[in-house]
Amino acid sequence: MTRFTPADRLKQLPPYLFKEIDRLKDEVKARGVDIIDLGVGDPDLPTPRFIIQRLQEAALDPSTHRYPSYSGMNDFREAVVRWYQRRFGVTLDPEREVVTLIGSKEGIAHLPLAFNNPGDLNLVTSPAYPVYHIGTLFAGAHSHFLPLLRENHFLPDLSQVSGEVARHAKMLFFNYPNNPTGAVADFGFFIQAAEFCREHNIIAVHDAAYTEMAYDGFKPRSFLEVPGAKEVGIEFHSLSKSYNMTGWRLGFAVGQADVIAGLGKIKSNIDSGAFNAIQYAGIAALDSDQSSIRENCRILQERRDILISGLRKLGYAAVPPKATFYVWLPTPTGFTSAQFTGLLLEQAGIVTTPGNGFGAPGEGYIRLALTVDKSRLEEALDRLARLS
Ligand SMILES: *Cc1c(COP(=O)(O)O)cnc(C)c1O
Repeated sequence: MTRFTPADRLKQLPPYLFKEIDRLKDEVKARGVDIIDLGVGDPDLPTPRFIIQRLQEAALDPSTHRYPSYSGMNDFREAVVRWYQRRFGVTLDPEREVVTLIGSKEGIAHLPLAFNNPGDLNLVTSPAYPVYHIGTLFAGAHSHFLPLLRENHFLPDLSQVSGEVARHAKMLFFNYPNNPTGAVADFGFFIQAAEFCREHNIIAVHDAAYTEMAYDGFKPRSFLEVPGAKEVGIEFHSLSKSYNMTGWRLGFAVGQADVIAGLGKIKSNIDSGAFNAIQYAGIAALDSDQSSIRENCRILQERRDILISGLRKLGYAAVPPKATFYVWLPTPTGFTSAQFTGLLLEQAGIVTTPGNGFGAPGEGYIRLALTVDKSRLEEALDRLARLS
């Protein structure tokens, strides 16, 4: 008998669509199968050494052992400002337009608490990183999903949003380069998104986690490069993917000062900021010559090319992503996402993620993450060849 009934907000959580795949994974593992895991979006490459060394030094300094400042160390926020200026040509005020986060997931999840009242509406792209919708739910608000379809290059069609919905919407969540589709946005879309948000008084919330993971010389741009974007929204960024620092929990949000202040206010009442020693390591990362990013992208591009050309040879309709470490693969005719993910796991020991786990419009796709080395990708392709 359960004596403690969870709050309604937990009951509202969408069904966990990866449950069946998790169960199957355990079962296949128990059979002793050598599993190739392309399921999780977590870099397998280590954090660059110079960043680890900076943490080691900083952790030995007792001044880092005390409570951090709520909005983040000044020095870290100034490093963010330098990095945005260098990388995107965007000028920010470190006092008012930057907040340090304990990973960007934390900030994304908390933002709706600062700006949504119960019953409010947020516009959320779908398929998507689940936190936009779940953060919305936890604040008592609702998501209006904007489907990302191949025929629209996986960009939301903002012209399809009705006047009624736009009037009620409080925030627009979007993410380019995109997880899970691997799509990138052209700058025209960012301009359109900024105009749409200004016209309807909506907070633009751009998740820019993958701007540093791009190939063939492509340089993703910041939403804040749009003139005036800083007045309509914010951008989330993370050190997780850029510097292989997922375990460290360090990110930041930049942009519209009142939105940053609102997020900071929620945070100051919930957490007490990121460990200062980690922020020092983050400064070393942001101020570095960024050669570790170039090396990362070189390795990932090589993996991408091996996987894509191998999949194409086997007859799959694989499209090389210009950015992110995800391949968004249409399932072969006759397979749902879950069926194809299940088949790959059961018959080839390959873990992938069913696209519908990121939202209903993801049905008909699976996501493969480039998080194993070349030889394992080749092994995965060999196994697929034996399947077909
Ligand atoms: C990985 C990822 C993040 C980063 O999360 P952190 O909490 O900073 O580790 C944010 N958004 C998307 C879409 C991601 O895939």
